[in-house]
Amino acid sequence: RTVYVNGDYLPETEAKVSIFDRGFLMADAVYEVTSVLGGKLIDFQGHAARLQRSLGELEMISPVTMDELLEIHHQLIARNDLDEGGIYLQITRGAGPDRDFVWPDPEEVKGGIVLFTFAKKLTAGKSLDEGIKVVSMEDIRWGRRDIKTTQLLYPSFAKMQAKKKGAADAWLVEDGFVTEGSSNNAYIVKDGVIITRQLSTDILHGITRASILKFAAEAQMKVEERPFTIEEAQQADEAFATSATGFSQPVVEIDGVRIGDGKPGPVSRRLREIYMEEMPKTAL
Ligand code: PMP
Repeated sequence: RTVYVNGDYLPETEAKVSIFDRGFLMADAVYEVTSVLGGKLIDFQGHAARLQRSLGELEMISPVTMDELLEIHHQLIARNDLDEGGIYLQITRGAGPDRDFVWPDPEEVKGGIVLFTFAKKLTAGKSLDEGIKVVSMEDIRWGRRDIKTTQLLYPSFAKMQAKKKGAADAWLVEDGFVTEGSSNNAYIVKDGVIITRQLSTDILHGITRASILKFAAEAQMKVEERPFTIEEAQQADEAFATSATGFSQPVVEIDGVRIGDGKPGPVSRRLREIYMEEMPKTAL
C-alpha cells in the first residue's frame, strides 16, 4: 500500500514519523475518515469543512491547502487502485520541543500530515442485514467532542467492553441521556419521528448525520433534534447509527432489550437507500 507522509508518497513500510510528534505523545492531532465508493470520495467537502473547524478550534494550521488535500486523496485512490473503502487523514501539531505542554507557535513548527487508504466492503454485510446489538456505557470523554481529535482511548475502551458483552458497539450516556455511539451518531424512531441529539460540544457533528437529516427532511420525514434516554430507545420502533463508513447502520438491541420486532426498521433502511443513491452523485 502506498501512503502519504509529510509531502511524500511511500510504501507503508518506509513511512516514518518523529517520536517527538505531539500527535504521538499527546494525541495533539485531528483526523477525518472519508468513505470511497466506486473510486470516488463521498462528501469530501463536508469532511474538509469539519477538518478546518477542528484545526481552528485547536489553533492548528493545516500544512496543505484543501485543494492539495483533495489531490492527495485522489493520488492515493489511484496509486492503491481503491474502489471501495476509505481514506484516513491525520494532521498533528508536529514535533514540538520535548513534550512541552505549551504549544509551539504554529508559524514556527510545521504540522505533520499522514494519509492512508483502506479497502473495505461498505455496501453490504451481515450487520446491515441483521442489525447490531449495542450496550450503554457512561460517557466519560472530555467535553469538546465536537472537535475530531485522535484521543480515542475511551471510545476504544468502550467498544472493547461492548465486545466482551457480546455487542458490536457502545452507546454513551451522560446525565441520563445518550450522547452518541463510540464512533457514530445515534438515532431512534418512534411513531415515524426520527429523534437524534441536537448538535453541541457534547457530540461530534457527523458529516453523515448532516446528509441523513437533510434527506429525511426532503422525504417529508419528521425529525426531532433532542436528547433521549436508553429507556426511551428501548421502547422505540427502531434505532440506528450513522457514520462515514457505516452510512446508516440498524441497531436492533440495546442492553439486551430488543428494539421493535428485532429486525432493521423501515425508516433506517429507507434513509440508507436514499443516501446510497444520492451521495455518489456528488462524489469527487
Ligand atoms: N461520533 C463519533 C464519536 C465519531 O467518531 C464518528 C465517526 N468519526 C461519528 C460520530 C460520525 O461522524 P461521520 O458521519 O462524520 O463519520
